[in-house]
Amino acid sequence: MLQRIVLAVFLASLALNAGAMIADASLACVPALLAGWYLADFASGLTHMLLDYRPTPAGARLDELYFYTGSRESADYLALKRRRMAAVSPFVRLLYDFKTHHPVPMALGRRPVWRLIGSTVLLAALPVSLALNVAVLAWPVPGWATALLLALILGGAFAQYFHGTLHRERVPAIIAAMRRLGLLMTPAAHQAHHDTLQRDFATNCGWSNPVINRLFAALRARGYLKDEGLVPGA
Ligand SMILES: [Zn+2]
Ligand SMILES: [Zn+2]
Repeated sequence: MLQRIVLAVFLASLALNAGAMIADASLACVPALLAGWYLADFASGLTHMLLDYRPTPAGARLDELYFYTGSRESADYLALKRRRMAAVSPFVRLLYDFKTHHPVPMALGRRPVWRLIGSTVLLAALPVSLALNVAVLAWPVPGWATALLLALILGGAFAQYFHGTLHRERVPAIIAAMRRLGLLMTPAAHQAHHDTLQRDFATNCGWSNPVINRLFAALRARGYLKDEGLVPGA
């Protein structure tokens, strides 16, 4: 029920912003939309890089889940997972999700849409979209500025969904069309990340990967983003 209300409010808020953009449409809206799409890709890459390498807190013992050798459908594993996850914060659960995505990438593709976008919509995309609603109602915000923020909000909200579609055999027609247009990256391009875990962290369109890769190299050269962070600790 909460999901439906949040989604309905989000859609209405997006529609209002899109209306404000169209009401002041100009040629400048086209590069602004692309710039917003780029910034969303950059945000997806930066978040992914930091969460992949940020160590889980000592004492959380999430290594026992990550390196579990028996069946992951066994009652023993499921009970252990419930206990360990109940003892950590939602942020640490998110850290675990990013790390465990590397050995079992296809699991992300099987997740329902709300599980992939829910927290991002609630914590970031919806508040920013509502703030933009207030701004366009209160001030004469130029159409190009609304366009940039709208593309950023949409790309940000759906970032983990887009990542999930890179790990699925079949994807909706709109995703396939956006890949053909270069607005979303292909599974082959994303495989470069999984092959090394040291590059191409952005998972929307991948336009920002050259910049993110340089940032990764610079941080590694300064001793940050150590390999130990890639797997959950004891
Ligand atoms: Zn990763
Ligand atoms: Zn992936």
